[in-house]
Amino acid sequence: MDLAEIEAIRREFPILGREIAGRRMVYLDNSATSQTPDCVVKEITRLYTHEKANVHRGVHTLSQEMTDLQEKSREHVRKYINASSIEEVIFTRGTTEAINLVAASFGSRFKAGDEVILTVMEHHANIVPWQLLQNRTGIVLRVVDINDRGELDIDQYRSLFNEKTVMASFCHVSNVLGTINPVKEMTEYAHSRGVPVLIDGAQASPHLSIDVADLDCDFYVFSSHKMYGPTGIGVLYGKKKWLEEMPPYQGGGEMIGKVTFEHTTFADLPFKFEAGTPDFIGIAALSKALDFIEDVGMERIASHEHELLEYTQKRMEAIEGVKIYGTAKEKDAVISFLVGNSHPYDLGLLLDKQGVEVRTGHHCAMPLMDRLGIPGTVRASFAVYNTLEEADMFLKALQRAVAILE
Ligand code: PMP
Repeated sequence: MDLAEIEAIRREFPILGREIAGRRMVYLDNSATSQTPDCVVKEITRLYTHEKANVHRGVHTLSQEMTDLQEKSREHVRKYINASSIEEVIFTRGTTEAINLVAASFGSRFKAGDEVILTVMEHHANIVPWQLLQNRTGIVLRVVDINDRGELDIDQYRSLFNEKTVMASFCHVSNVLGTINPVKEMTEYAHSRGVPVLIDGAQASPHLSIDVADLDCDFYVFSSHKMYGPTGIGVLYGKKKWLEEMPPYQGGGEMIGKVTFEHTTFADLPFKFEAGTPDFIGIAALSKALDFIEDVGMERIASHEHELLEYTQKRMEAIEGVKIYGTAKEKDAVISFLVGNSHPYDLGLLLDKQGVEVRTGHHCAMPLMDRLGIPGTVRASFAVYNTLEEADMFLKALQRAVAILE
């Protein structure tokens, strides 16, 4: 993409014009959450001011319009991820809730001694729900390690499968290392051993095209707020054959067929898993975020972000004292790093004082930090609206911070 195109995109994000510490802000915390374009914000305002009514409950016009908008967005998501039916698209509060849903509901079939395969690079959202299940049922967690570049040890992954394996759950892209995992091959292998898989796509969905039919995964989960959409919305894709068998996750309104004090029947998919009033405004506005991505084009987004990654990482490697964590051959636009023995928070504060917004800490991946033998990292992560000029501003700020820390 040329600068004029990126400038046009940037105009959709007024927040990018902010100043921090008296300087033009450089926002490089996109892995935590991306900024939201005007088209999404305007749609949220329009929905609140012209369409708000609870969904699936009323015969009145407004309720039917709002229901239509919510369900149109579900169809948009279905198409976007290439699911075969809207029954396979469940709205949740986010990736975290989607994984909790699968661990609690699909996991209810597991018994003591059954094994679930995870990887050492997982976000806590793909560890703790399985540990809660472990506490309830006595399942065993097996963990795949990484090599020095931060790539999964695929031989070890294969070797962990045995007759007790009931599930494999792994991220598509690491939120710390940026590693893009070979999830299609990993799924294929799991299926050859009769094991279903869940893919945590929280970091992949903003940067890669997602095709659940091609991946053939059993579950795929992601969050709207990381892909230019509203906060508080997530998606659980699940194969219909599993979702039909699974018990509800939560009980309440919207998810029922008939309720008596003696017996309750449940609604059909996808509503069986959507208890209570959903964030129907957010769900409807998510469709506008998908429009935004589709208008720019995922291939152009990915190639622009890759250019930013290569440009920045190469120059960071040349700064003395900077160590980068995660140098996988297949890597997303995320750079985790440390400078000498300095604490990530000190570095983060020095960058913030120069208007550069990066994330510091364990990034909700404490087991990975233990594996790397570090307390945390500083993480710079890019989105479509970042520019090479901003990469230079970040590099300059980093050089100043390194000089101060020395
Ligand atoms: N998995 C990964 C890989 C993530 O990066 C994140 C968000 N940092 C999550 C899960 C959790 O996402 P959310 O907080 O939106 O539920």
